Amino acid sequence: MFTSQPHNITPGRLDVSQKLYTRAKTLIPGGVNSPVRAFNGVGGTPVYMAGGFGAVLQDMDENQYIDYVLSWGPMILGHANEKVVNAVKAAADLGLSFGAPTDKETYLADIIQERHSSVEQVRLVNSGTEACMSAIRLARGITGKNRIIKCEGCYHGHADSLLVDAGSGLATQGVASSAGVPDVLASLTTVVPFNDTEAMKKAFMTYDDIACVIIEPIAGNMGCIPPKEGYLNDIEKLCKASGALFIVDEVMTGCRVAHGSAQSLYGITPDITCFGKVVGGGMPLAAYAGSKDVMENLAPTGRVYQAGTLSGNPIAVAAGCAQLEQLTAENYILLNEKTTFLSKELESIFKKHRVEAQMHQVGSMFSVFFTNKSPENFTDVKASDTEKFKRFFHGMLEEGVYLPPSAFETWFMSTAHDDELLKMTLRAADEVAKGL
Ligand code: PLP
Repeated sequence: MFTSQPHNITPGRLDVSQKLYTRAKTLIPGGVNSPVRAFNGVGGTPVYMAGGFGAVLQDMDENQYIDYVLSWGPMILGHANEKVVNAVKAAADLGLSFGAPTDKETYLADIIQERHSSVEQVRLVNSGTEACMSAIRLARGITGKNRIIKCEGCYHGHADSLLVDAGSGLATQGVASSAGVPDVLASLTTVVPFNDTEAMKKAFMTYDDIACVIIEPIAGNMGCIPPKEGYLNDIEKLCKASGALFIVDEVMTGCRVAHGSAQSLYGITPDITCFGKVVGGGMPLAAYAGSKDVMENLAPTGRVYQAGTLSGNPIAVAAGCAQLEQLTAENYILLNEKTTFLSKELESIFKKHRVEAQMHQVGSMFSVFFTNKSPENFTDVKASDTEKFKRFFHGMLEEGVYLPPSAFETWFMSTAHDDELLKMTLRAADEVAKGL
């Protein structure tokens, strides 16, 4: 089965993956347990993974790939990190779940608190969706108001209030982006363009029932789009002035782009921060956090209810602690250097082959847009050449580089991507870009 030969990248046939996908489609809707895994954004067969080691994944046909998906962000130390795996094994030996508090939950809260000056208390949950959904309920409970503002192209999980698109034309009320979301709920979400302070100001002038703004500080769910200078600070000020809560969704960026997350890079102090991905070490764990004043509005101390049978699960907590313990400030400097190197080299390769492309990068998050203008929001992103991305994606897969199967997703770097793997990635990109 899985053998770890991290530098032996030999992509080829997907016969086993194809068979597994055909069978899965009979038993699982669309064959997958999360839609983007179905490769609808790029076409072709999803690759069934057998295992991962460091920065390398091996599929069920024994092909190996350099992995820039990293489970959509969590695996910042690479796959099967020894200390994380040992911590999980040690925790499992003591039992899988108790439904009673354990000391490690407080320890994990302490690690998260220590990294973020905006955080005094932390509530652990099971997914980023749950963290964002609960943060919104908390904001509504505290303010007694109902409206939330979100940005177009930002994703905060699949809670009803958040599966909402901007209304067309002059309509400022949101419309449901999924069947099953009641219109009355969608109408309480106002959607504005990312990186547009004027639109945000206008929303604050239009509505007097705003409970919160929720935003990805670096948009990562439309490719990687950094905030314009001062944009997040302006939103924080608008929230403060109106009494709305400023919810910063760091599910993707948290403990990923910097030791103190994106909030430390942009000098913002959220009322509530949502965490996920990296803080769970690859296990189903997420969190939301803020000042004691805010967080003590949660049950059992406060009137806002939120609970979970498996919240703070000891195995997930063990993985999160073991991952965060290993992530020093120096790791973030190195991750940034590696990602900057790869990003700049990729830029040169596209230039050499006269491919119109924009590389975006913040810390260890990066992505490409096939367009002649650096995108600032979702409208710009949608104008990029997604057909070219599909060709690039499949070319890279053939060369043994596993990128997110969508033009609208962020790529991630891990500490396990060494110089050799970076050079192999660049050789592959050179080959593929030639034919674009
Ligand atoms: N928020 C952000 C910024 C995300 O990127 C995601 C998932 O990709 C979520 C929330 C939802 O997290 P989960 O998939 O764990 O529910």
